[in-house]
Amino acid sequence: MKSHSLHKLLGFTVSIVISLTAVAVGARDITPEQYQAAVDEAFEKYKDVDEGNNADYIPILTKTPGDLFGVVIATRDGKLYIAGEDKYEFSIQSVSKPFTASLIMARNGPRELREKIGVEPTGLPFNSRLAIELYDSRSQNPLVNAGAIAAVSLLEAESEEERWNLVHRNISDYAGRELSVIEEVYKSEYENVWGNRAIANLLKNYGRLYSDPEEALRVYTRQCSIGINTRDLAIMGATLANEGVNPFTSKKLLDREDVPELLAIMATAGFYDESGEWMYSAGLPAKTGVGGGIVAVVPGKFAIATFSAPLNEAGNSVRGMRAIRHIAGTLGVGLYGPNTEE
Ligand code: GLN
Repeated sequence: MKSHSLHKLLGFTVSIVISLTAVAVGARDITPEQYQAAVDEAFEKYKDVDEGNNADYIPILTKTPGDLFGVVIATRDGKLYIAGEDKYEFSIQSVSKPFTASLIMARNGPRELREKIGVEPTGLPFNSRLAIELYDSRSQNPLVNAGAIAAVSLLEAESEEERWNLVHRNISDYAGRELSVIEEVYKSEYENVWGNRAIANLLKNYGRLYSDPEEALRVYTRQCSIGINTRDLAIMGATLANEGVNPFTSKKLLDREDVPELLAIMATAGFYDESGEWMYSAGLPAKTGVGGGIVAVVPGKFAIATFSAPLNEAGNSVRGMRAIRHIAGTLGVGLYGPNTEE
């Protein structure tokens, strides 16, 4: 056989092997066994990681047991794959932010989100006051504290109760069940809310807060104190993966054409000053919270949620980040191709 035809044959064989592998582990056709193996493997691999610390600027968060760890995948067709802790209720914290941003998109339209809050990442910590002074949009984006407080203030409501009911109803609908506020968390945060109060007042000063500052602060703090478990969080993410329709209740929460914009903000700002690092290593839009939750979305397919309280310096769950990166790598679902860098 001439060498060029040998090359062709080899090339042909190689491409068959590559496409078979793609069929086996590609996002198009992941089997239930592969999903379950991915969550089991990530749980086993990282359950004994002993790095990071619980958030302590909200005193009660230091009490969350650091060994609890849960990993859940929820798919667009309404299936759940669970490893570890899926019942313990932790406070949603900043993972709530994209869902209230979604509410602004649904009620006020995506243009208002962009014009009255902003969509640029700050490259600074989630509670940065400096970012408000540095950037013209002030609030910068709905996933940092400033933008999230501005988002609740932007909801049209006659009273504080109505404002809260809108926020609470929406997050409950994303989870597919009636969620409750963890009152101890609310009290613990609201008693120590000086930094966020400064943020709300600064925004008001610059004309970028749209209600009474203390009202916005209370509703925002209550939003962050909503209790969820790992399973709820996966379902919330799966609703975004399913173009804005909760796959478990069939309730539509966001127009399908607005979902890509929301996921884009999660991709650029979901991990605050660690967003570049996150996209580099995981390649998925995601959102973290200081309660220990993370949700990542594989658009059009499924969501991965994790819960583990110990955080790194940027306020992101150490085990959770590792587990999601590992699953994204194993299943080959990074948006820009399979990421290999954990
Ligand atoms: N409620 C917290 C705060 O405003 C949320 C922060 C977070 O989860 N990153 O500081």
